[in-house]
Amino acid sequence: MVLRKTWERVYKQALEILRETNHPIAKYTLGLIENKTLEIITFNKVKEKDFKCYADDYCDDKGEKLPHHYPPSSLTISKIIKAWDAKINGNRVSINHTLSDPKKIAKILVHEANHFLNDTNDNYDTDEKQFTEEFRAVLSESLVFSKPLRKWKLQEIAKEVAKRYELPLPKSIAMPEGLFVPKNKSSR
Ligand SMILES: [Zn+2]
Repeated sequence: MVLRKTWERVYKQALEILRETNHPIAKYTLGLIENKTLEIITFNKVKEKDFKCYADDYCDDKGEKLPHHYPPSSLTISKIIKAWDAKINGNRVSINHTLSDPKKIAKILVHEANHFLNDTNDNYDTDEKQFTEEFRAVLSESLVFSKPLRKWKLQEIAKEVAKRYELPLPKSIAMPEGLFVPKNKSSR
């Protein structure tokens, strides 16, 4: 018999994974969640202001309009979770509640915390900026979960980011600007 994993259980396991890795980026991510600086919500309980943004993003990404009626129908939610595993708006991270792999969720939390730290939502207007933001966030996941991060790995990750986010690959690949942990740990 296969026990169905509920979101609460899988989410708790994801937080445990972050706690156990004891990596500074994982610690920072966990801190943001535990002191409620970051609010973690599932897409089926998406907040109205976030839903409006995501519906617009969906239209930009998929070329298909979603009804703006709130709360969204289950059909609309199923389209959203098919499009994305997670989205961040302000300090609110919305996650696909049907994900069942705690490690994947732990990676998503690290990724979105990096976007939060670097104010990604304000730096997303060109392909180049989008690449930098996603490259840094994906590297953040790799720094926690795929140590050691070697130079060849940087090129490989850059290619993967360009593919995943359908962005042009920059000619030269270097560590992206921005932060992986706050400069002054006590200030955030
Ligand atoms: Zn991202």
